[in-house]
Amino acid sequence: MMALPAAAPGTVLITGTTSGVGLNAVKALVDRGWTVVTANRDPVRAAAASDSLGIPADRLHHLRIDLGDLESVRVGVEALVASLEQPLDALVINAAVYKPRLKEPERSPQGYELSMATNHLGHFLLIQLLLEDLQRSTHPSRRVVVLGTVTANSKELGGKIPIPAPADLGDLSGFELGFKAPISMASGKPFKPGKAYKDSKLCNMITTQELHRRLNASTGIVFSSLYPGCVADTPLFRNTPKLFQKIFPWFQKNITGGYVSQQLAGDRVAQVVAEPEFAVSGVHWSWGNRQKRGGKQFSQELSYKASNPVTAQKMWDYSMDLVGLG
Ligand code: NAP
Repeated sequence: MMALPAAAPGTVLITGTTSGVGLNAVKALVDRGWTVVTANRDPVRAAAASDSLGIPADRLHHLRIDLGDLESVRVGVEALVASLEQPLDALVINAAVYKPRLKEPERSPQGYELSMATNHLGHFLLIQLLLEDLQRSTHPSRRVVVLGTVTANSKELGGKIPIPAPADLGDLSGFELGFKAPISMASGKPFKPGKAYKDSKLCNMITTQELHRRLNASTGIVFSSLYPGCVADTPLFRNTPKLFQKIFPWFQKNITGGYVSQQLAGDRVAQVVAEPEFAVSGVHWSWGNRQKRGGKQFSQELSYKASNPVTAQKMWDYSMDLVGLG
């Protein structure tokens, strides 16, 4: 098959670029000619991280956004839109926190459980506030790309692991009732920190599907998510037990074959942002759970929990209320 010609590079905003997948995605996109706006709670650390990979500073703009604080998202977006000469052409939803050992929920300035606030609600608001800007872009293929994960998709083995519990938003009564203390889970059920991460990633994937259903036809923006593989050695796992941090990468490299380097994961994000064969909206991209040399991407089927439009509509409406846009 003849390769499709690559669209011209543009400007992309990526959240969470001090380490791991986000940092390596910045490198892979700059290498492809893109200009990158990074969004981090500490832009000085973001600049130091990109310097450490030798990424030319003149291709980057570092923006301060703490995704756990909705006010910070609003202020950051205002500053960005006022300063950008050209509209954004793409947006990558990447930042995340994973805190599986918390005994009690941490709270955002707005009073929401912090992993859901950071991974889902901050990003949900960011997307809503940047949609207009993305629509002004004249880039031939404008995209919103969301980092999903296997542990939030029960169609795959990794999504069925019952420790501490599979991702499940239940009847969303936790969101419906305002998601403030004593509520800490979207389902309204008791706090399980590892599950709070999985639930937030499920919300990321549902958001992608709902954006596609609501807005792809009218805006032409391509909305997709991806599972880049198990990048078992990123700082995402810094709050897990030390022994787990040693064994998990070894296990993924030698037993499951699911391990992917940070560099390859970053390159996969860049492919979904920039390559013509990824210009398909509504797809959850995967390269499989066992990595094969030269393995090709495919459209991974999503679980009913991630794809059913009734849950998606409720999650969207409650999230709009929680971020103050309802
Ligand atoms: P990582 O190295 O820990 O990167 C997470 C990034 O998010 C960091 O730059 C971190 O910045 C940033 N961040 C955290 N809280 C933030 C906040 N409040 N505001 C702004 N930025 C914040 O983790 P990673 O493994 O690369 O994960 C990146 C994405 O890939 C996540 O969405 C994750 O769910 C997804 N993913 C990872 C894997 C994996 O195996 N690692 C697999 C599938 C999907 P700070 O330095 O400020 O904390």
